[in-house]
Amino acid sequence: ERERLIRLRHTPAVTIDGHKVELLANIEQPADAAAAVRAGAVGVGLFRTEFLFMGKGSHLPGEEEQYQAYRQVIEGMQGLPVTIRTIDVGADKPLEKGHKDDHLNPALGLRAIRWSLADPVMFRTQLRAVLRAAAHGRVNLLFPMIAHVSEIHQALAQVDLARAELDARGVAYGPVRLGAMIEVPAAALLARRFLHYFDYLSIGTNDLIQYALAIDRADESVAHLYDPLHPAVLRLVADVIAAGAELGKSVSVCGEVAGDVAMTRLLLGLGLRSFSMHPAQILAVKQELLRADTRKLVPWAQQVLESDDPAQAMEVLAMAQEKSA
Ligand code: PEP
Ligand code: MG
Repeated sequence: ERERLIRLRHTPAVTIDGHKVELLANIEQPADAAAAVRAGAVGVGLFRTEFLFMGKGSHLPGEEEQYQAYRQVIEGMQGLPVTIRTIDVGADKPLEKGHKDDHLNPALGLRAIRWSLADPVMFRTQLRAVLRAAAHGRVNLLFPMIAHVSEIHQALAQVDLARAELDARGVAYGPVRLGAMIEVPAAALLARRFLHYFDYLSIGTNDLIQYALAIDRADESVAHLYDPLHPAVLRLVADVIAAGAELGKSVSVCGEVAGDVAMTRLLLGLGLRSFSMHPAQILAVKQELLRADTRKLVPWAQQVLESDDPAQAMEVLAMAQEKSA
């Protein structure tokens, strides 16, 4: 089985009915780029840069150190695109291990883009490092947890300022595509509007599920209610994908569901053509999509979307398929 998956590495990711699908890797460290290439990823869909900052005590990496780290990933990906997400600390990812966040409600507090906008000097240090690294390859810049249009304006203004700072120093930098993560239900509802400001969107289902269902993603006592197949979650995901298709902009999913083979067909049926996941999942998801026919999956996904019990609706289909096979 393992060998068969390995042979799949160079097989193009195309459905039976000819739809090309992009399979990208989620990475946390520059060294992970090698695993992404080995798995046959066509790029990095999510570089969680906060891992460069976590557990570093008071020594946070500066512009030069970050630039080297980003450049290492870009060069490691050998010309394939790399999506660099700006720092997403707070809540389940504290800067210091074991540090107890004593804010009232860390998941709803100062985290991700909010944290960056609260510390523009730190934020622009990271933006300058990313812009400089972009001189070495194709880079997508990604902002986590955008919820307000005002945050979009502020983040984009910081990018402009970072460019101006590099210009003033006479330092070279490259172009970046700009994107936002859709992880807050409010953002999913406004995806069409947000797309006016961005080249692409990436749906972070891990947080989108948490915020849509009011379930702390790290709390074991409510883990049984953390449901990627909740009809409301599916509706939000489907609407964001549809918004991208309408406006001709790419939408990917980079939460855990993108690497779950039990979700591959449903996401394809909802129109998703870009999946970003842990490198270890890529070949299994590819195997699944090579057997998929979107002509059948599209009407079926609509039925699942309308169901009060999508998990059961999916099971019924799986059994029907087994019978016909
Ligand atoms: C997500 O929320 O789905 C996501 C990909 O980001 P993270 O898991 O790093 O919060
Ligand atoms: Mg997230």
